[in-house]
Amino acid sequence: MSTNVTEQTIIDKVEKRLYVGGEWRDAAGGGTLSVEDPSTGEAICEVADATPEDAMAALDAASEVQKEWAKHPPRKRGEILRRAYEKLVERIDELALLMTLEMGKPIGESKGEILYAADFLRWFSEEAVRIDGRYAVAPNGAGRLLTMKQPVGPCLAITPWNFPMAMGTRKIGPAIAAGCTIIVKPAQLTPLSMLALAQILEESGLPPGVLNVITSSSSGATMSPLISDRRLRKLTFTGSTPVGRKLMEQASGNLLRLSMELGGNAPFLVFDDADLDAAVEGAMLAKMRNIGEACTAANRFHVADSVADEFSEKLVEKMSALKVGRGTEEGVQVGPLIDDDQRGKVSDLVEDALSKGAKALVGAGKMDGRGYFYEPTVLGDVPEDADLRQEEIFGPVAPIFSVSSEEEAIEAANNTEYGLVAYVYTRDLKRALRVCEGLETGMVGLNRGMVSNASAPFGGVKHSGFGREGGAEGIEEYLETKYISVDL
Ligand code: NAP
Repeated sequence: MSTNVTEQTIIDKVEKRLYVGGEWRDAAGGGTLSVEDPSTGEAICEVADATPEDAMAALDAASEVQKEWAKHPPRKRGEILRRAYEKLVERIDELALLMTLEMGKPIGESKGEILYAADFLRWFSEEAVRIDGRYAVAPNGAGRLLTMKQPVGPCLAITPWNFPMAMGTRKIGPAIAAGCTIIVKPAQLTPLSMLALAQILEESGLPPGVLNVITSSSSGATMSPLISDRRLRKLTFTGSTPVGRKLMEQASGNLLRLSMELGGNAPFLVFDDADLDAAVEGAMLAKMRNIGEACTAANRFHVADSVADEFSEKLVEKMSALKVGRGTEEGVQVGPLIDDDQRGKVSDLVEDALSKGAKALVGAGKMDGRGYFYEPTVLGDVPEDADLRQEEIFGPVAPIFSVSSEEEAIEAANNTEYGLVAYVYTRDLKRALRVCEGLETGMVGLNRGMVSNASAPFGGVKHSGFGREGGAEGIEEYLETKYISVDL
């Protein structure tokens, strides 16, 4: 047994059943699925394993209360979100421990995610009362043009394992604020944080049926009947590009409104006029936040050749000093990868790069012992044909490429199917603006290694998806515009 008494108490406190229509219930047939601690590879608990029948019950519940919820006063919808925000902050210690146990990231980072997740509830509690419309005089003067915003209707949210709570609140917050009901299916690898969040929203006064949570080991079979059901009106997905593409195809039959937050391959550009120490600090954040398992993770470093050696040396020094271990331990900065498959993918990408001529400046290996640990790694002299140049690494590996001009840097940055975020380090304002304009991404970190912020529109272009989460744009994803033509 690896879990201690405190950890066990936290795990015991969380509901392990499905949340449907305001009730906690076992899966039809009583099936369960195991949740594992990636730092030990051991199961820590079982949660309900939903069937398509359970998912349909969730849609029944969400559809039944949709009309009533849409009429619920915006101020009251906002107040529920605000209470949930406060409870999340109050319980940050236990929720962070729970997240670390199921996902592996160090406790400090789990706390960071709880605050980030809570911030979406606070932001959308404020947005709930700012939904408005327009009144205009028709150009011919004879009529009036009115527009009003109304909730889209019942939504389905499918979320990934890498940010088990924040990827949920980015969808649940605006849905509730807009007056939509919602069914959430978290990743089977990390269902506990979402179940804990549902308990908090329930305690905060969310009426039955507005939020429903379905945990399942068979996502495709469980979700597809919902996606084709006429009562569902929106699908919001965060996950990989291949799964997003598949879900878009399925959703086309039912013409669902879609939001797609998909994979990334973020370039990190360092120009010769950059503050190199700041660039290295930013690189550590952009690369190592969440053990490199972030859609926003810097996937490739394109560094001006005149400063590439110095940048590499400084980065190697920082990466070598990182403490790797179980996320619950004091001082640990890098936890395990989520599972052996993910570690295998990272290892294959590194081996491929090395076989094509890249040099391991530090790391480049799986770590012995229990759990799915991988060494913080820096690769130099990486050839352009290395697979990790085009594929999302999703691990603690920093490949460095050198570039000889600004044009080459922009071209290299854009040479990918993805377009979520890019990072740019330069002290030249004109260059900064030129480069930001030239980048084909939804977001840019300018002299910053992190862009996430609940009050800003997060999202990508190209194969990183479409739609925005957070900011003033976030709630629009859950609203339809109705136009009324008035004859005076
Ligand atoms: P994934 O394999 O695409 O899974 C994401 C979610 O989709 C999980 O809940 C998964 O359920 C579910 N799913 C898989 N196949 C499905 C199907 N056929 N029908 C319905 N649901 C299905 O991605 P992941 O490995 O969890 O997450 C990593 C990916 O997410 C990376 O590519 C990362 O870049 C991306 N991501 C993007 C953003 C963004 O905002 N752009 C943010 C975070 C992560 P199960 O796992 O339970 O099967």
